Amino acid sequence: MRCANQGDWQCMLKLASVLVHEAWHFRNGRDEAGAYTAQITFLMHQGSDATAAGVRRARDRVLAVRGSPVEAVAIKLRERQTSPLP
Ligand SMILES: [Zn+2]
Repeated sequence: MRCANQGDWQCMLKLASVLVHEAWHFRNGRDEAGAYTAQITFLMHQGSDATAAGVRRARDRVLAVRGSPVEAVAIKLRERQTSPLP
């Protein structure tokens, strides 16, 4: 994120919130709802309401495809990438 290099505080908060999101996955697994909740909570505590709103919209889009054919294809592709070669 180039903007973080320029000292943009909101940009740095967004980047930090992505780390919070990924750290949540590392500790708790694949559940996106929990990871997004941790990320949004972090942003709200930092007073970054506008960025939190954007993350909420992203969460809603991600959760909307849950159980859909789109998600099924994504899961198959991930499994293919992580399975050992025959
Ligand atoms: Zn995630």
